[in-house]
Amino acid sequence: MKHATLSAETDLCVKCGLCLPHCPTYQLTRNESESPRGRLSLMQAWANADLELSPTLRKHIDSCLTCRACESMCPALVPYGQLVNEFRSATNAKTSSLSLIIKKTLTSRHIWLSKTLLRVYHSSGLSKLLFRRLAKFSGNQSNPGGFATHYSANGEKKGQVALFTGCASTLFDNKTLADAITVLQRCGFDVDLPSQQVCCGALDLHAGDKKVYRAFASQNKQAFDASAYDAIVSVASGCGSTLLEYQPKTNAQVVDISQFIEPYIATLDLRPLASTAWVHTPCTLKHVFPKNNAVADNLSYIEGLKLNLFDKNQVCCGSAGLYMISHPETSEALLNLTLGVIKTQPTNYLLTSNIGCALHINAGLNDAGLNTQVLHPVSLLAQQLKD
Ligand code: SF4
Ligand code: SF4
Repeated sequence: MKHATLSAETDLCVKCGLCLPHCPTYQLTRNESESPRGRLSLMQAWANADLELSPTLRKHIDSCLTCRACESMCPALVPYGQLVNEFRSATNAKTSSLSLIIKKTLTSRHIWLSKTLLRVYHSSGLSKLLFRRLAKFSGNQSNPGGFATHYSANGEKKGQVALFTGCASTLFDNKTLADAITVLQRCGFDVDLPSQQVCCGALDLHAGDKKVYRAFASQNKQAFDASAYDAIVSVASGCGSTLLEYQPKTNAQVVDISQFIEPYIATLDLRPLASTAWVHTPCTLKHVFPKNNAVADNLSYIEGLKLNLFDKNQVCCGSAGLYMISHPETSEALLNLTLGVIKTQPTNYLLTSNIGCALHINAGLNDAGLNTQVLHPVSLLAQQLKD
């Protein structure tokens, strides 16, 4: 026996196969080893010392997007995401040097270092793919990371929240952060951005580097521990879902921004907008956060805006953290499935609640020649606020 916990927990799987149709890699390959059930069997065989750690075994586990669609569907409540991360950690999954550079770049607390690494990376010509995805978004940045640590509520104060900024949003999408602050203020909340917060640790967790992940978790627990907040609000569901794993020890819950503002949305004075939008739900929002329709419900308060909703079984767009870099072919194939749906009814906006999905889908829309603006839903709400 190599790993008793992994052996016991993979045994929870009753091999019913209900998860298979919901798994993006199984949909593409029809290969059992590329399905949740198959991967659980492979990990269990390794944990029981019945199977050696081979490149083929690694390949099947590495090709998992950790989208957790399987977990949502599983009647036996197999904690699939936790198990695959445990396997990667126990087997010292090797992250490619390319992914390591990107990870270091995104998670550095020093904006100047991140920018320098990006410049070096860019000039080396190593990743056209990454830069295709970042170009449009980073062009929107005016002063990345240049936020104050406190913003006061507009009007009567209803409470106080902490905003988790996240490394990718701080670097490439401070428009969403600024819009989130504006909307939270208009909902009546003081907004704190604790300066000691760091990366959520998702990239390290999924790469099997638990040591670094735990260090980030510990730092964030301290950063969000001191004050009594009504909530810790996240604007990127990928980061928020990781924060949920280690809920900072405070009464404040980690909440996605759309869910948090839902009770206050009717109090916002919004201008009508005669326009159309697809509402994309990132896997982390769909499969990890408590289920609700807050995004679409909030947007329905913009009079004249016509919303297109994806089928609830729509699979991962292929972004999945560093997956779009480490597995470009699968990532592109999944992106095309998402684009195929969008192309049936092109819209003015594509609204998504996760920075990784936004970058990935934005690149696909540009390549397809579609004139669709990609925004976080909270940015559209901020745009429509009356002065
Ligand atoms: S996490 Fe996603 S890609 Fe991985 S096995 Fe589950 S459904 Fe498939
Ligand atoms: S749905 Fe759950 S129990 Fe059924 S095969 Fe998939 S992981 Fe196993």
